[in-house]
Amino acid sequence: MLELRQFYIGGRWVAARSEHEHTLVDASTEEPFGVVSLGSDADVDAAVAAASKAFPSWSMTPPEERASAVERMRSIHLERMEDMAQAISREMGAPIDLARQAQAGAGPRHMANYLAAMQSFEFVRPLGAHAPNDRIALEPVGVAALITPWNWPISQITLKVAAALLAGCTVVLKPSEMAPLSAAVFAEIVDAAGIPHGVFNLVHGNGAGAGQRLVTHPDVDMVSFTGSTRAGIAITKAAADSLKRVGLELGGKGANIVFADADDKAVERGVRQCFVNSGQNCNAPSRMLVQRSIYERSVETAAQVAGSIPVGAPGVSGPHIGPVVSAAQFERIQGLIEKGTAEGARLVAGGPGRPAGFNRGYFVQPTVFADVSNDMAIAREEIFGPVLSIIPFDDEDEAISIANDTPYGLTNYVQSQDGARRNRLARRLRSGMVEMNGQPRGAGSPFGGVKASGRAREGGRLGIEEFLDVKSISGWG
Ligand code: NAD
Repeated sequence: MLELRQFYIGGRWVAARSEHEHTLVDASTEEPFGVVSLGSDADVDAAVAAASKAFPSWSMTPPEERASAVERMRSIHLERMEDMAQAISREMGAPIDLARQAQAGAGPRHMANYLAAMQSFEFVRPLGAHAPNDRIALEPVGVAALITPWNWPISQITLKVAAALLAGCTVVLKPSEMAPLSAAVFAEIVDAAGIPHGVFNLVHGNGAGAGQRLVTHPDVDMVSFTGSTRAGIAITKAAADSLKRVGLELGGKGANIVFADADDKAVERGVRQCFVNSGQNCNAPSRMLVQRSIYERSVETAAQVAGSIPVGAPGVSGPHIGPVVSAAQFERIQGLIEKGTAEGARLVAGGPGRPAGFNRGYFVQPTVFADVSNDMAIAREEIFGPVLSIIPFDDEDEAISIANDTPYGLTNYVQSQDGARRNRLARRLRSGMVEMNGQPRGAGSPFGGVKASGRAREGGRLGIEEFLDVKSISGWG
């Protein structure tokens, strides 16, 4: 059994003070393979004390020094890519090729984008020609608690840690208790990069224990959280008494609007994107809105594509999707698939139960429902599994109204050859991001949402600004 019983505090690996632990379960076999200690209040307090002690000097380092620290982390991360990929695949069941490329690759990629932003980042800016002795100084918020989920574990950790460190904050990272292995490799990388002691601290733990202590701790100035909307609401309330800054990256229920003039790969692309990482993506295009004149043809294509997507074990190389993360997620997804049929949607691919050939593991069939109406549970709830809901529409106004009729607002997608229409849609969709015609957003583009998807921004220049307070100064000499 693998045992993770140490936390990284004040530049050293220290034994957990807590006796509580979480069992790590292999998503493809349902067998336990390890345990991780769950940090107690005392463990969190020690980590916050180390971060508080390190803050005065780290916050005053020249930005170039902080950038070279992150550059060292990036190059060590590149050397540890295989360890990172193995850790991610083991802890959350990502197929090894996905773990190697998109999952582990996200770490160095995010750091490179932040470092590019740092090259022109002004921590002290003029107010304007009308006030020549005024300056706007951007200063680190203080000690930041970073709480992350399991679905893109190292992407989310790097987006927070690198931005906070570059801003001059010191941090306590509490990764998901379901994905502690990649976080431990990440702490080894920070250690090897020679970051001053106490600037980065890692405490494993769950939400109710270490998470709750961090968000209520009097010496924590900011909480940056990525996870479910449910936990985001709880954290906002818990952090209110100490008036912390709270940055939230929460769930999503993205619409992918396919117009009749879309390119002929649009439907296939949308299906594949919905199922990447077994559908466990906050920005999944999980509602496909299709214009009625191409509706039946598109449903057929979607069913064919879903039926051709292989499902397989995480350790095996190939383009298949893996299991979902846990028994709880598996059960929840099965429940929603059953509800889809019960509410009258037409099942055209997949369905309840494991795919053929699997009698254990949290494997879910790539599933497509057609004739979904936007008030059904499968159109409203974030399923976080390989389940696509197809909804017909007649015209642009109807598509926008269906797309915006959701509590969430993370990413929406538009497929059309008409540039003027794409621009109109991009402005009228209520979401933090709009991606069109399969074109990925550029490097350093801010990631984040509106409404129940939270309002934080991560990545690039705006991601660094998340961790900065604004100071207005007159009389600058
Ligand atoms: P989760 O909310 O259950 O847990 C996320 C993290 O928060 C974990 O570290 C957990 O231990 C901690 N936590 C839970 N409750 C807490 C509390 N009350 N106080 C403090 N900490 C608490 O989410 P999850 O299941 O790990 O991740 C899946 C969710 O994350 C999905 O809803 C997904 O959409 C969302 N997500 C959002 C983004 C984004 O950028 N918007 C990215 C990835 C995932």
